[in-house]
Amino acid sequence: MIDPALSSLLFLAFLAAFLAIRGFFTRRMRREKAVSKADLRDRVLIGLVGLGQVFLPFIVTVKHVLAFADRPQPVVIFVGGVLAMLTGLWLFWRSHVDLGDSWSITLELNADHRLVTKGLYRMVRHPMYASFLVLGLGQALLVTNWIAGLSGLASLGLLIALRLPREEAMMVEQFGDEYRDYQRRVGAIVPRWHRKESA
Ligand code: SAH
Repeated sequence: MIDPALSSLLFLAFLAAFLAIRGFFTRRMRREKAVSKADLRDRVLIGLVGLGQVFLPFIVTVKHVLAFADRPQPVVIFVGGVLAMLTGLWLFWRSHVDLGDSWSITLELNADHRLVTKGLYRMVRHPMYASFLVLGLGQALLVTNWIAGLSGLASLGLLIALRLPREEAMMVEQFGDEYRDYQRRVGAIVPRWHRKESA
């Protein structure tokens, strides 16, 4: 067994690294956007992720609220959580690097938007969302409270499920057959081993 408090604290350290990466790329993000499909729903979803991924783990670890939902921490779960966080952080950082100035926090496009299909984007169309799910899994394994552990995966899963179809529709509107062909060749979140014959 591992000290549950230590495990949750380690998650907060990983979370700080995640927020530092995001902060670094947010400062470099291009501000002027030609297309914006960001609506209230998308902002509410981002707020929910803030609650589930940042606020709940923080308050549970530091203030010991929701103690009725605390759980012990077996060593294998702890090791799995550390590996998931390291993998998720690497995927998150690499997808930021590969996407470059095509990145936006919400559904937006630059005037001269560049379609990225290289690096991680050669393997999946949404490596950043894939990294969110891996980080959500890491949270579930490291935060030793059922509610604050699972709230990350729940809020991130909801954001991705509701946003992905709208993001792809925006990309098809912008890039037409170029994006449709990309959809045929490359899987959304998990790599595809065989090219789909028809879309
Ligand atoms: N869904 C992607 C990117 C998330 S950031 C991922 O999970 O990796 C969201 C923004 O990225 C969108 O507003 C869109 O403008 C941009 N985007 C998404 N896929 C892209 C691609 N293949 N090439 C260029 N920009 C892309």
